[in-house]
Amino acid sequence: MSIKGLIFDLDGTVVENDYDWAGIREELGTGAASILGFLDSLREPERSAKWAVLERHEARQTEASVLREGIADLLGLLRSRGIATALVTNNSRKNAEFLLGKFGLDFDCVITRESGLWKPSGAPFLEVLRNFGLEPGECGVIGDTHFDILAALDAGIDVIFLLSDEPERFAGFPVEVFSSVSGLLAVLAEATH
Ligand SMILES: [Mg+2]
Repeated sequence: MSIKGLIFDLDGTVVENDYDWAGIREELGTGAASILGFLDSLREPERSAKWAVLERHEARQTEASVLREGIADLLGLLRSRGIATALVTNNSRKNAEFLLGKFGLDFDCVITRESGLWKPSGAPFLEVLRNFGLEPGECGVIGDTHFDILAALDAGIDVIFLLSDEPERFAGFPVEVFSSVSGLLAVLAEATH
């Protein structure tokens, strides 16, 4: 593994919160569609009304978010090793900046949904690679959901780490699952030596 860059997800990865995505999808009536794509396809006045519903859930979860234990240490290690770091989130810039400021975190590149590039497409990750001048094989992804996996694979990135207490949910996917940052930190400390 010759990793020169790492792309982090925000919600559920860098910060912990408690989104009820199934409930939010039901409230919005998205069906199986991706939430952002669904909202973007609506016409007014339903469009604005439903965006407001999502933003209300996001504001509540952002306010209640806590920094995942070990993330600050991990970012410090990566910085000391000269590894570029990016944050890619389907959340808004306002919420991302609030959380980065609140927890004193610094990424070399931050891509939010205002870019129009959304997971599970690999497009936001390809934008990071362009930004860093890296090839897919030189970059890894750290996330917590299938969206992160699908986006990584779509971008041709095959070093995928997940932070999750439910490794069985990701059985069959080419990923390494860690229940805490400490295990991941040990692997990356070795790999970036
Ligand atoms: Mg997430």
